[in-house]
Amino acid sequence: MDNNHSSNRPRPRKRVSKSTLRKRQLCALAVIALLVLLLIVLVAKACSKDSGKKGGDTTPTEPAVTTQLTTAAPQTTEAPTTTTKAIKSGPNEDSGFKLDKYSIYIDVGDSGIAYVQQYPEGSGEEDEVWTSSDPKIATVDNLGHVTGVSGGECYITLSTKKDPTKEVNIKVVVTGKSNLSNNNANSEPQQLAEAPAPPKLTISGVHYEGDTLIVNKSFSLPSDYNPGGLEATCSEWFEKLKQGAAKDGINIYLSSGFRSYGYQDQLYNSYCRDYGAATADTFSARPGHSEHQTGLAIDVNIVDDSFTGTPEAIWLAAHCYEYGFIIRYPQGKQDITGYKYEPWHIRYVGTEISQKIHEHGDDYTLEELYNIDSEYKS
Ligand SMILES: [Zn+2]
Repeated sequence: MDNNHSSNRPRPRKRVSKSTLRKRQLCALAVIALLVLLLIVLVAKACSKDSGKKGGDTTPTEPAVTTQLTTAAPQTTEAPTTTTKAIKSGPNEDSGFKLDKYSIYIDVGDSGIAYVQQYPEGSGEEDEVWTSSDPKIATVDNLGHVTGVSGGECYITLSTKKDPTKEVNIKVVVTGKSNLSNNNANSEPQQLAEAPAPPKLTISGVHYEGDTLIVNKSFSLPSDYNPGGLEATCSEWFEKLKQGAAKDGINIYLSSGFRSYGYQDQLYNSYCRDYGAATADTFSARPGHSEHQTGLAIDVNIVDDSFTGTPEAIWLAAHCYEYGFIIRYPQGKQDITGYKYEPWHIRYVGTEISQKIHEHGDDYTLEELYNIDSEYKS
């Protein structure tokens, strides 16, 4: 036996003065308060991370943590601004819904479903309203069956007709290759390349090569395709591009971004009147064939040949790929893209594709990358 065991015996209690006791109580309270605060900060941090992009499996902890946050938030005097984001992507305490999962991982062409476990305030399935934040990535029917359309992430939102303000979001991650319309009409030797060709998809009249939306003389957009402006990611990266240019003393600015079908219709027809259709076709797109209708194309600075060779044009050609953009109609590629050289017209494709194009050379085109043509069929 060693001496340590003697501490197990009850010790005689020391007498403690009232003031010392109060001091100790205050100390203990302070420590507890500090611990609680630390816990809240940790939970808030964990949740704000979770609300961003996150791969991995369906984790039951994700919704649990979010629910904790919704109750914890009002207690803290300075609730972090990120909490609203976290609440949006997980179950909401007063949403009136409880689902068996809050994220769905499916392959392109496959389906998944999130079952509603409790539905206390609704009147049944007829009352459910299911919507997809991006039907290009996943669609959902009125029973909550989710179908993967193309690779990416989006949200499926469940609300009710009775009270559309109550809603819950389910994260959908679509992965894998498509089993859908693989219309590989072009079986050229290029397909011997090691990497499998990305799936070719046409969804509601919109053509995709892998994740890349394609608009050229062969592929058009429906007249009602209207993102209402530049796509958010495109905008975001264009801002980064401008900042990057500014650091190098180069001023890049937007001259023309999104153009609707109707506007392009007017524009093209006025060019036809002035120059004739044959000439107009070399520099202006027919309605539905303009990349500007995608919300992913931007004309910068001076939109005519005087832009060629300026420090801005040279910087743009050399650096735009770093920000996910490509010079869409490079010099000497008119036979391939269908358009003459436009050093001012950049197209957002994301950094993965822009990097690929850059590796082939900055005059490489989407038509060459995906082995597609650009010709009006009529
Ligand atoms: Zn343009």
